[in-house]
Amino acid sequence: MDLTGMRILTAPTTVEHPHRVTYHPETDTEPWRLVAHCDAPVGAPCRLWCAEGCEEDGAEEHAEHELVDQGQCITLEWLRLSDVEDFYAGPDLTEFHDGPIRTFWDFDGVQWEYATTNPTSDALAAENGDQR
Ligand SMILES: [Zn+2]
Ligand SMILES: [Zn+2]
Repeated sequence: MDLTGMRILTAPTTVEHPHRVTYHPETDTEPWRLVAHCDAPVGAPCRLWCAEGCEEDGAEEHAEHELVDQGQCITLEWLRLSDVEDFYAGPDLTEFHDGPIRTFWDFDGVQWEYATTNPTSDALAAENGDQR
């Protein structure tokens, strides 16, 4: 699946915060890492896309296309394009931790912050459809 240029809305979903991260501390053999998870059920908005191969929802015909479950979470696909922490857009942290996250779209793709914090201005702008 080619995600280049794809723009879809992941929020609001039917599950309040279907996405979360787990923090895995450094071990003797591996550096620390952050892993993203999706708990949304089949058919949830973050798993839906059309079967026509559209690359963005701005495509003229796309509004007419039926959205079908893709068998996986598209938001997580985005987060797997690099290290999960690379897409973090919340306030400065001393360390990542486990917790539910809020995802939103900026111009280049998906961003996230912890759902336990107040939405940053970027998240609010994205929810309001303001693609700066
Ligand atoms: Zn389409
Ligand atoms: Zn998801």
